[in-house]
Amino acid sequence: MSFSSLGLSQPLLKAIKETGYTKPTPIQAKAIPLIIQKKDVLAAAQTGTGKTAGFTLPLLERLSQTKPNMNKYQIRALVLTPTRELAAQVNESVKTYGKHLPYRTAVIYGGVGINPQLATIRKGVDIVIATPGRLLDIAGQKGIDFSKLECLILDEADRMLDMGFIHDIKRLIKLMPTDRQTLLFSATFSNEIKKLAATLLKDPVHVEV
Ligand code: AMP
Repeated sequence: MSFSSLGLSQPLLKAIKETGYTKPTPIQAKAIPLIIQKKDVLAAAQTGTGKTAGFTLPLLERLSQTKPNMNKYQIRALVLTPTRELAAQVNESVKTYGKHLPYRTAVIYGGVGINPQLATIRKGVDIVIATPGRLLDIAGQKGIDFSKLECLILDEADRMLDMGFIHDIKRLIKLMPTDRQTLLFSATFSNEIKKLAATLLKDPVHVEV
């Protein structure tokens, strides 16, 4: 199995090579082709399995297949994470793998000033990586527009529920189009996660490693 057989194009294959990865991890081999085909995916994956590249690489690939948005407040993809540390880490991955692509990202979390975050989104970004609470504040101020959202990713969904983000997540999802792609990554599958998945995902493909 090689990265080039998974449906990734040159700008991403070049970035992967520069990062030093020689072959996909099992979660990457399974998830990448499904995500490029715009399937909803429910993935059981622990940290350390390469899950971040498993959703970041195909996200970047699928965004390159459609047109950028013209309206500045509109974003094309959203990654929700439980903590600011994870948001920053995902942002680093997006930047690393997307370095030969023109996408702009914003990383959004609480505990710091909101105005620089509003200003970043106002300049126009394609991908937002955020913790739910602060993103909801920004949405409440009409600082972001989800109407053209193509892909929603919930990373470490079990931790987000443990931290009490369920209501914020539900409020955010009400602002999003239903004809989007949704990916849910979680280390564990409680009844609560299964219920959330059932409300968010359409005909999901289950991926386990
Ligand atoms: P994650 O599970 O996303 O937190 O990733 C765990 C670590 O694996 C990170 O440090 C990645 O840089 C690394 N990694 C991801 N994919 C690969 C790969 N295909 N080959 C080697 N290392 C990888």
